[in-house]
Formats: sequence, structure tokens, C-alpha cells
Amino acid sequence: MKVTAPPWIEPCSELECFMRGLERRNPGQTEFHQAVREFAESVMPYVLENPKYEKAQILERMTEPDRVIIFRVTWEDDEGNVRVNRAWRVQFNNSIGPYKGGLRFHPEVTLDTLKFLGFEQTFKNSLTGLPMGGAKGGANFNPKGKSDREVMRFCQSLMTELNRHIGEDTDVPAGDIGVGSREISFLFGQYKRLQNRFVGALTGKGIAFGGSLIRTEATGYGCVYFCENMLNHVGDSVQGKTCVVSGSGNVATYAVEKATQLGAKAVAMSDSSGFIHDPDGIDAEKLAFIQELKQVKRGRISEYVVQFPHATYHSGERPWTIPCDLAFPCATQNELNLSEANVLMRNGVKAVSEGANMPTELDAVHAFLQAKVMFAPAKAANAGGVAVSGLEQSQNSLRMAWSREEVDKRLQGIMHDIHSKCVQHGVENGFVNYVKGANLAGFIKVADAMCAYGIV
Ligand code: NAP
Repeated sequence: MKVTAPPWIEPCSELECFMRGLERRNPGQTEFHQAVREFAESVMPYVLENPKYEKAQILERMTEPDRVIIFRVTWEDDEGNVRVNRAWRVQFNNSIGPYKGGLRFHPEVTLDTLKFLGFEQTFKNSLTGLPMGGAKGGANFNPKGKSDREVMRFCQSLMTELNRHIGEDTDVPAGDIGVGSREISFLFGQYKRLQNRFVGALTGKGIAFGGSLIRTEATGYGCVYFCENMLNHVGDSVQGKTCVVSGSGNVATYAVEKATQLGAKAVAMSDSSGFIHDPDGIDAEKLAFIQELKQVKRGRISEYVVQFPHATYHSGERPWTIPCDLAFPCATQNELNLSEANVLMRNGVKAVSEGANMPTELDAVHAFLQAKVMFAPAKAANAGGVAVSGLEQSQNSLRMAWSREEVDKRLQGIMHDIHSKCVQHGVENGFVNYVKGANLAGFIKVADAMCAYGIV
């Protein structure tokens, strides 16, 4: 391969040279490095085969966000103490549509996390076929243990700054970890008040004020639909399979709901403190208990075994030791490592479908691919959430509300199309490498738009 290393570093392959430059320009941002490396591994050979991209320095341009907004959020807690947090909006790339991506409230949120998420979002949104650019935002605010009024004051203060950077044709945020319907409602209420405009500048809104049916369920449902497409492609289906799902938030609970509706049995779920194992399966009634526990009472998954004593709770552990056919990592990034991947494979896992963003460490991804386990990367598998957000934007612009059946049908169609694009670009000797397929399909559309705009 041609050596393009700057003179001050050792000769290296194009991929390594590119990564060294990226790591030097973004010191300490290890999650961002990981997300870019996974992408560049797939895309670099294609870029080298197509000199127009290399000449346009397309990878260097794509890995630099359009802009990053960083701001202080000052608010008052229930005891009258002044509290200060930091918030960000990373507007990564708007080549194919207005910026779009969630807001995350979590004490460990950093610019690094939001850059990896905004980068991934760009290609995920491209895969949906809808006109959406990529962005991500959030704050190092911990909603756990805060009263509703405290969360409201925080959201209002955050939106007081954020409102001037977003809008229905500019940037349309949504929810993510720690930002559910309560937070989106407070944020939208403040946006509307400041702008005096009722427009679709946020998605994930309540049904009474411009939200879309199925948006809440879309990421988890879509992740299972994608898995069903992968299994159908090899003449199999979700029906009758045993599933392990990490997390017990929005994505995890609706993944369990859809898998159960399609005839599978989910036997484990988790939160950041540990996991529960229920060999009888987490049926609709037990899932309703978890949803009430986590979303309304804001409790811990350990309380499941108090209600259902035949199940077991495993404190401080992740659920990947439980034998299963299908694994759905739906909690957070880097929650499934190489040794856990090896355990899953020893136990006969057939498919892994990522509901969370980058939940699988890169060497674990490589191991699944090498063993020819069907592996659906987040960009493809969890795109259902942003796809229905896109449909929410369309409904807002049309001033219409589609039925549950209509939105679900469109979601299933979009997941099917994403699967087809992955197959088109990812087949290698009869095996579908969904990582390569998703990365290439997402890349080509954004790259071609950027090239068409000239040198910008
Ligand atoms: P959520 O409703 O806030 O739930 C997050 C779940 O993950 C909770 O069970 C939480 O446990 C657990 N969790 C959080 N941090 C953790 C950690 N460090 N270690 C272990 N578990 C942890 O969030 P969500 O919307 O379901 O999002 C989950 C994932 O899906 C994220 O990667 C997100 O980016 C991705 N995603 C979400 C959407 C969407 O539409 N919501 C769309 C695309 C992708 P605790 O209760 O203990 O905190």
C-alpha cells in the first residue's frame, strides 16, 4: 500500500496513518477514536479504490464536526442551592439534511462521548433514507434522585441557551439516555415559550403536542425487526429463540416487547447495578412491572426478584453469561467485551443486534465477524428511533398525525430497506458483514453530497 505518513512518524498503512492523525488532533477522545476506527476499517479500501474521495480528503472532513457548542447551565435545586452543569451540542454534519440526534443527560457525559455519538449518527441517519444530518448533545447532569421540579428547572435553563442553535430546518434534537418524555416535554415547553413558535424543533414529544405514535417504541422495535430481517435472510426467524437483553430503559424494554410478540423468550435484563435472570421468560405482565418500576418509580432492576422470587439477581454483573440464541445490548457503550463475546459464542449465540450505540468493544466485533455470527451494528440496528423521529418531523410539517399501524408499517419498511443496503454492500463470500455494509452504505450518500458541494 502507498505510504502517506508525515515525515515525523513511522511508515504505516493508510488506515493507521489516518488514525494516527485523528488521534493526534483529538487527544484523549478514546470513544471517538474507537467509532472512527470501526468506520474507517470498512470505508478506507473503498476510498482508496475511488480517488475522487481521497482527493477531496473526505475522511478528514467527515471526522471533523461542523461545529461544537459548549455552554454553562446554571439552575437552582429544591434547597435553593445554585448548581452548575456543562452542556454541549455537537453539530456533526448536515450534508443530507438538518442536524438530527438525541440529547443525553448522564454524569459521565463528555465531549468525547458526544463526538462519537454525533459521528455515528451521521451515517445512521443516512442509512434511514430520510433527509437528516447528524448531531448529538447533552449535559453532565444526573437526573437520578432529582425531583420533577429540579429536572424542569434544569431543562428550562439548558433550553434558554440551546434554543438559539436549533430549529425545525436547522437542528432537531430528541431523547437519549436520561432524556425521556418528561425531559422532552420540559425542553419543548421552554423552546415554544422563548421562540413563540409551535414547530417540530424537537422529536419524542407527547402525542397531544405533535409527537408521533410508535416513536417511544421505535428503537427497540426496530432493533428486533432488523434481527428478524437478518434471520429471515438465512431462512430462520426470531420465533422460538431465547434472548438476553441488557438495559431496562426505553430501548431495552421495547426490544423485549417486540421479541416477545414475535414468539421469542427474553430471559435476562439489566441496569447499571446488575442483571436479573428469569428462566421462565419476561412476559408482557412482567415487562409492564419493569416499565413501571424504571420509568415511573425510577427504581432498580433488583426489585424484580422481590416481585418474582423464582428469578435471580446478579449484583454488579452483566447478563452475557446467560445462554441465548439472540443478544441485544441495549444499555450503553462498551458494555460487551471480548471475553463476554467468547462466552456468548461458546453458548451458541446466533445473532447480536445492537440497540445501544457502540455497546460492543471493537475486538469483540472482530471476533463475532470472524466466527461468522450475524452481527448488526448500531448504525443499522438502532436506526428505527431516528427514523420515526424523521416521520414525526414529516407529520409536524404536514400538520397531520398518522395512525399507529401506518407508522409501524413505515418503520418496518425502513428497517427492511436498511437491511437490504447492508446486504448490498456487505456480502463477502456468501457471509453478510453488516458492519461493512452499514458503514459503506451510510458513507456513500454523505460523501457524494459533500463532494457535490465543492470544497466546504
Ligand atoms: P434509558 O431509557 O435512559 O435507559 C438506559 C439503560 O441503560 C438503563 O437501564 C440504565 O441503567 C442502563 N445504563 C446506563 N448507563 C449504564 C452504564 N454505564 N452501565 C450499565 N448500564 C447502564 O436510555 P435509552 O434511550 O434506552 O438508551 C439506551 C442506549 O440506546 C444508548 O446507547 C442510546 O444512545 C441508544 N439509543 C437510544 C435511542 C432512543 O430512541 N432512546 C435511539 C438510538 C440509540 P440505570 O437505570 O441503572 O441507569
